[in-house]
Amino acid sequence: MRVTITLACTECGDRNYMTTKNKKNNPGRLELRKYCPSHKKVTLHRETRS
Ligand SMILES: [Zn+2]
Repeated sequence: MRVTITLACTECGDRNYMTTKNKKNNPGRLELRKYCPSHKKVTLHRETRS
């Protein structure tokens, strides 16, 4: 039930994180506040499909 997803910064589009999620618990797009090295600050990161 766990799928691998990529988290991309919503401000610059960089794909900074790979993680897994439970499709049953998170059927929609996952959004997390994460550190973006390009901005050197925490930004909103959203799940991408690739
Ligand atoms: Zn960024």
